[in-house]
Amino acid sequence: MEANAGSTLPNDSEAPRARWKYLDKILNRPGPFTDEDSFMPGEPVIESLERAKILVIGAGGLGCEILKNLALSGFKDIHVIDMDTIDVSNLNRQFLFRASDVGKPKAEVAARFVESRVKGVKITPYCGKIQDKDEEYYMQFAMIVCGLDSIEARRWINATLVGMVDPENPDSLKPLIDGGTEGLKGQARVIFPTMTSCIECQLDMHAPRAAVPLCTLATIPRQPQHCIEWAHIIAWEEERKEITLDTDDPEHITWLYQKALKRAQEFNIPGVTYSMTQGVVKNIIPAIASTNAIVAASCCNEAFKIATNTNPFLGFPETDNYMMYTGDESIYTYTFEHQKKDDCPVCGAGTIARPLQVNPNWTLQDFVDSLAERPEAQLKKPSIRTGEHSLYIQSLADLERQTRHNLTKKMSELVEDGEEMVITDKSFPTQFKYKVIFHK
Ligand SMILES: [Zn+2]
Repeated sequence: MEANAGSTLPNDSEAPRARWKYLDKILNRPGPFTDEDSFMPGEPVIESLERAKILVIGAGGLGCEILKNLALSGFKDIHVIDMDTIDVSNLNRQFLFRASDVGKPKAEVAARFVESRVKGVKITPYCGKIQDKDEEYYMQFAMIVCGLDSIEARRWINATLVGMVDPENPDSLKPLIDGGTEGLKGQARVIFPTMTSCIECQLDMHAPRAAVPLCTLATIPRQPQHCIEWAHIIAWEEERKEITLDTDDPEHITWLYQKALKRAQEFNIPGVTYSMTQGVVKNIIPAIASTNAIVAASCCNEAFKIATNTNPFLGFPETDNYMMYTGDESIYTYTFEHQKKDDCPVCGAGTIARPLQVNPNWTLQDFVDSLAERPEAQLKKPSIRTGEHSLYIQSLADLERQTRHNLTKKMSELVEDGEEMVITDKSFPTQFKYKVIFHK
């Protein structure tokens, strides 16, 4: 990437295309996989790449890589949204930021840095939330690349882009390229809203991690993490019940660490450390720079191929649309087709209610809590209605007060087996329809 920075090579002003020598080889002639009907080598494709307006969501670990890659792939009109400011802990991998940038908005600093290094590229930053923008704003882009760490934000932009599709207007279909990383694992996927499997269809790929059964923690811990969870869930409750655990308080973490260490020694389990204790208790997954680099590279390759048609891309209907990467035991990637779901509440027919297993003896409160955990729902602040009644409404304080009394009632008193319920959550512009199936 830095090859042209040396003083012996022509700079941008002497030979404007010198920097793009290798890119031009791809753009000026067909390759072995090029579909010659859709690819026009040379000037037309270079021009359309430079004209393509592309939006990047997120200017963090993935976002820095994505912005740099897009700028070096020939995109010239890039927009970026991020609501965060730069923290000192970002500097080890978010390489567009320096110590003097701490406290400044990520989108703005990232935009200026890339502009200063890649002449001719224009990056328009917006410091704020994606929810601040409306459909008209998203309509101006040719495609959208996400480098987010939040499922909620992904679900929101996915539902918004699906909702924007107008069958009469091909321009309303905005390809969504989504990258994600978790430690040494990551994925890149391409979504053609309404045509291919969407983020909501794939929600179970982001299932909250299964908790270790309490009996394992209480009786036979096998891993250092089990000893930490034991200290966290059981020992604290037994010995320090009156104190509310504050995971940012070093004294509290030290107490848990020492408890966990002692238990680990009893069971001959090595490996409990202070930082592991902090990680387990705060549920921290380390961000790894190389994973970000690999996933961002894959996302930008897809963006480049979609913008230029130089090569087949992921996500075309009935082809692979999902690339998974695993870097913890080897360096392994594979791609597969994740199929669109007919009963997807976002891109499905919209009339189909998904079956939902419900224990009739649960209280409504138990049911509300379970919606946050269920891989297929993951709704943290749900409002629940049936055809007849509002069971619980959280979106307005008044309605919350009026419906709160239902929370202690049993599900069997409130709904019938087979009845449909509509669940909404302020975070998403989607109605989730479910059909209650009582456990026998
Ligand atoms: Zn879907």
